[in-house]
Amino acid sequence: MRLEKKIIAMADDMRPELVRRRRDIHAHPEPGWTEFRTASLVADALTQAGYLVQTGEDAIKKSAMMGVPDATTLQAAQKRALEQGANPIWVEKMAGGLTGIIATMVFSEHGPTVALRFDMDSNDVSEVQNEQHRPYREGFSSLNANAMHACGHDGHTTVGLAIAQIFSQLKPELQGTVKLIFQPAEEGVRGARAMVENGDVDDVDYMLGAHFGLKMKQTGGIACNVKGFLATSKYDVHFTGVPAHAGAAPETGKNALLAAACAALNLHAIARHSEGVSRINVGTLCAGSGRNIIGDKALMKIETRGGTSAINQYMETEAQRIIKAAAQMYDVAVETEKVGGAAGANNTPALAKYIHQQAEKIGIFNNILDDCDFGASEDCSYFMEQVQAHGGQAAYILIGADLAAGHHDSHFDFDEAAMGYSVKILACTAAGLLLGDNK
Ligand SMILES: [Zn+2]
Repeated sequence: MRLEKKIIAMADDMRPELVRRRRDIHAHPEPGWTEFRTASLVADALTQAGYLVQTGEDAIKKSAMMGVPDATTLQAAQKRALEQGANPIWVEKMAGGLTGIIATMVFSEHGPTVALRFDMDSNDVSEVQNEQHRPYREGFSSLNANAMHACGHDGHTTVGLAIAQIFSQLKPELQGTVKLIFQPAEEGVRGARAMVENGDVDDVDYMLGAHFGLKMKQTGGIACNVKGFLATSKYDVHFTGVPAHAGAAPETGKNALLAAACAALNLHAIARHSEGVSRINVGTLCAGSGRNIIGDKALMKIETRGGTSAINQYMETEAQRIIKAAAQMYDVAVETEKVGGAAGANNTPALAKYIHQQAEKIGIFNNILDDCDFGASEDCSYFMEQVQAHGGQAAYILIGADLAAGHHDSHFDFDEAAMGYSVKILACTAAGLLLGDNK
């Protein structure tokens, strides 16, 4: 308990710093793959705390990045980050949106490797500007157009930096290796795969992830065993036909609009899977160019989900087959681009149990839940799946937070006290794992 007490006291001392940092990040939100300012301040803080910091192509596999904004958007975001005080050395390394960070500290040669993952990106939401909204009232609302931290990732990043500081101060008392992962582009589940495929967690024995709020809407609560992450895949589907005069020569056209319409109806007719939940959605469909022209182009944005990675794979395979068949039926070309994805995941029971024990031991929570159904997708699942696949343990927890509005809402805000709870439980759990206290 001695070490836990120390961690709790350190986290309490950091309170003003947590609030200051969270508000600074909140005021400068950056959507997925454009976290140049956020990631550069993370990299600076971690370097100062004595971590080995890797970013750019050392942290991200370029070919596995999904849903990357176009070059103009990236460049504008880079320029804005520099204007808002980002360190140019880091920004240059992150050019092209490679904004992920891996920070490593080795305490001893032997001992486990424990990784903690924090997401850094904001949402494509315009923050509400009125006196009822605390970030506006207290002067830290978003300075960036069409961007807002409406999911609490500003808090997650802040928590990660606080834990980094605590571990660097406790260095002589710890064993093993800690890896802090700061992930870009969680929204749209685009970022994790590129870090996993880079091998970032191949040597990890214990993997921890956390989120504020969601189903835990009161400060002081914790859910130790989050279940039911849905595996998901997001695709943009481009159909290309041949335009023609609809009155004078319709027979020379090739109708991409009808191919897409045919695909949309049949995608929703994929047979459900008997072994678990499955979902499909054609979210948008834009096609055609004019009333009297055979529609030669169509863009469809779709997603599949499954209760496990295997069920999602089934939905994905069926979807691909139907899309190709619809294109063939109308003799048009089709291209699908994967723009996001997450694995299905479940916590390793032993690790969830250990987190529960730690939560009870430190005695700060007023509501300790075990099972909590997530019912959504989160790409932390890629890290979890990878670690579990090579025999490691993984867990994702929810930290209770009073919320001003639902996630992704322009009125979203969370109780900043939740950051302290998160720092304490994650740092105490990770420290315990590093020292083999779970065995
Ligand atoms: Zn989130």
